[in-house]
Amino acid sequence: MDFSISPALLAEMDLFKVFLRKHLKPNLADWYNTGEIPRRFFKLMGIEGWYGFKIKGNQLVKNSALRESLIQEELAKLSPGIAVAVLAHINLGLTGLFLFGSKELQKAYGKAAVNGDILMCLGNSENKAGSDVSGISMRAEKVAGGWQLNGTKAYVTNGFIADLAVITAVSDPTASRNNRMSMYLVDLNSSGVRRTKLNKQVWIPSDLTRLQLKDVFVPDEHLLGEQKRGLQQVLETFTYSRVPISALTLGTAMGAFELALDRAKKREIFGQKIIDFQAKAFEFADFFARIEAARLMLWRACEAMDNGSDFRQESSLAKYLAVQIAREVTPWAADVFGAVSVVFEHPIHKYPMDAWASSLGEGTQDVQKLVIFRELMKKYS
Ligand SMILES: Cc1cc2nc3c(=O)[nH]c(=O)nc-3n(C[C@H](O)[C@H](O)[C@H](O)COP(=O)(O)OP(=O)(O)OC[C@H]3O[C@@H](n4cnc5c(N)ncnc54)[C@H](O)[C@@H]3O)c2cc1C
Repeated sequence: MDFSISPALLAEMDLFKVFLRKHLKPNLADWYNTGEIPRRFFKLMGIEGWYGFKIKGNQLVKNSALRESLIQEELAKLSPGIAVAVLAHINLGLTGLFLFGSKELQKAYGKAAVNGDILMCLGNSENKAGSDVSGISMRAEKVAGGWQLNGTKAYVTNGFIADLAVITAVSDPTASRNNRMSMYLVDLNSSGVRRTKLNKQVWIPSDLTRLQLKDVFVPDEHLLGEQKRGLQQVLETFTYSRVPISALTLGTAMGAFELALDRAKKREIFGQKIIDFQAKAFEFADFFARIEAARLMLWRACEAMDNGSDFRQESSLAKYLAVQIAREVTPWAADVFGAVSVVFEHPIHKYPMDAWASSLGEGTQDVQKLVIFRELMKKYS
């Protein structure tokens, strides 16, 4: 088993760090305060090729999961909120188009999304259906030439700024729970779409939006994948996106860890640096060991995805372990800063809240345990 990262990928990551220093770091405080990510940032990410897909012959081609995870971790170290907006665009919206979009749909929208000219998102969760994905009630009724969608998606990252959404809806209410949903590519600039930005304190400056659809027309060609396979398709999309969200979550843990380390090396208390208290040094060692262990699981999931193996269990294991460590390390790191950590604008302040958000996106810890256990039983049956 090879744990090394190729010199070419390392060189790319050096370039990405330069990109972040130039285009993200100087703007971070402003965007955090305004709660908005300008479109030009998404565009620059696309122009420089930092999204997880490229275009070949008008079709989407996936880049390596390891490359994408390294990018997500680096981005999230600075801003988990910006990392999640990128993730919602690429790993939820565009991944839905990649996995289930027809050649024509990929040709029509793939290039513009990869270039950052259009933005995407995915709307599945509703007020009464989060973990229980099959419980959605948004309705898709067949009409001439397409479908008419009615209902509300309660929590959509990028919903306020996106142009296109992958949306799940019940197309056959008489069918069994597993076969009543379909998946659609919805133009969010259509008439009948109403967007309401929610006031939240996690993953700033990404938006979390309620999408209300009233008689929204979706043409037949915008059906993604197969009719009545919406549940299986959205779950497969989450299996894919759990890998980059694990990287995002590790970046959240690592961002807080590095800030705390820097603080502990500089801050003097009782006549010595915080880091010189062995009790604190041991805490750094302990957290570092657990972050590294979670990263190995993430790289194992990347390897399984990249070599075409079944990675359902690996992606849930990676997310479960990443969230566990991020939820522990981030409040501890804030504590290393003392009182200043409660100030909204302080860079350390966001990490504990963002680690909490990570435990909700792409399934809670309980949902990861459901997947891990289901896969475990397949192996031991
Ligand atoms: C910041 C943020 C961004 C989001 N972005 C998106 C997005 O872009 N698109 C989208 O569609 N959704 C999005 N969501 C919604 C998210 O996917 C759901 O919140 C999540 O799936 C949990 O669903 P729920 O909130 O309905 O909680 P519930 O499903 O009601 O869960 C409540 C509690 O019950 C537990 N639980 C659930 N099932 C079981 C079980 N079988 N056994 C034991 N315990 C269980 C859960 O772990 C949790 O603790 C976002 C949420 C947040 C907070």
